[in-house]
Amino acid sequence: MNIGLVAHDAKKKLMQNFCIAYRGILSKNNIYATGTTGRLIEEVTNLPVHKFLAGHLGGEQQLGSQIENNQIDLIIFLRDPFTPKSNEPDVNNVVHLCDAHNIPLATNLATAELLVKALDRGDMDFRNLYK
Ligand code: PGA
Repeated sequence: MNIGLVAHDAKKKLMQNFCIAYRGILSKNNIYATGTTGRLIEEVTNLPVHKFLAGHLGGEQQLGSQIENNQIDLIIFLRDPFTPKSNEPDVNNVVHLCDAHNIPLATNLATAELLVKALDRGDMDFRNLYK
């Protein structure tokens, strides 16, 4: 499965720790991420990450077009609900696309853990029907 990962700046450390904790599951899948998030994940997990441009330079749009092309099966977008920076991608664009294309989406750690465990159990296999 193709997993999309994005984290606002305040959540990047959390994303790194999440990827360390679930490295075993992530390693069996393909990881796509916005530029900075992807680089930070690579640094701590040593997993290959397909990196888009940095979020504010078009990476979010690149991720969006991957969703529209049915190339992404699951998104984890750890957003900062309190102090989002003006140049950080708006989560609403991703939410809109995931709702339009019926893609599982987590925007916080609790849901991210549920989704990644479900992925490991094979609950995401319904996505194969769409391909
Ligand atoms: P980044 O994009 O991973 O390139 O930082 C996401 C963001 O800006 O929040």
